[in-house]
Amino acid sequence: MRPRDRLRIAMQKSGRLTEPAQDLLTRCGFTFRQSRDKLFCFGEGEPVDLLLVRDDDIPGLIAQGVCDLGIVGRNVLNEYELTAGRENDLALAEWRGLGFGRCRLSLAVPQEMDYAGAADLAGRRIATSYPGLLGRWLREQGIEAGVVTLAGSVEIAPRLGTAEAICDLVQSGGTLVANQLREVEVVLDSEALLVGPQVLPADERGDLVELLLKRIDGVIQVRE
Ligand code: ATP
Ligand code: ZN
Repeated sequence: MRPRDRLRIAMQKSGRLTEPAQDLLTRCGFTFRQSRDKLFCFGEGEPVDLLLVRDDDIPGLIAQGVCDLGIVGRNVLNEYELTAGRENDLALAEWRGLGFGRCRLSLAVPQEMDYAGAADLAGRRIATSYPGLLGRWLREQGIEAGVVTLAGSVEIAPRLGTAEAICDLVQSGGTLVANQLREVEVVLDSEALLVGPQVLPADERGDLVELLLKRIDGVIQVRE
């Protein structure tokens, strides 16, 4: 890893995690000024900068040492760990659970389909954007099923006839009901995490991480 004297945190540029993540850092006492191209936010007090990217890119940016920390859902972190080609990658760790962005990765089937247990999925096609996590769950259950990987709009796959079941993120369940689907299994419980390398950089950034963790713990404690 190249030495750097500023800490760089990767965050979602625009989406569900953006506002709560920025809010958390503000409560930790960090203030930022956004670059004109909106890719960076430069720390005004502490030498801590933000890189604003798609959430899917965050684990890779940390694993390759481009960023020192990131705020991302456990679903995205674990999928990365299960599917990325990991040559030269740093091993990643969950540094803190942040208590927002809560959701679950669940299996759902059409409302009228009989479902008594995982065995009913054998030989079926399941649409998902999380082939790594779904594949691991199917192996654990000892079930052989087809995995149809879709980038988005997974919930419409059963109506289109591309799959008989889906494995997708659920929060309230409203999207499932709207698509005449029923949640039958939880594959993963997720929330936003502070993610970093298992081993902290041995320069000033290590001290900055300690400072950030201390402040985050303070904010989380107040909230609880
Ligand atoms: P990006 O453009 O950054 O790739 P995205 O469309 O993948 O954005 P969002 O929909 O903003 O991402 O979701 C970001 C994260 O929020 C998810 O990965 C998940 O951890 C969490 N989340 C919480 N509730 C939900 C939900 N109901 N549906 C999807 N994601 C949710
Ligand atoms: Zn994404």
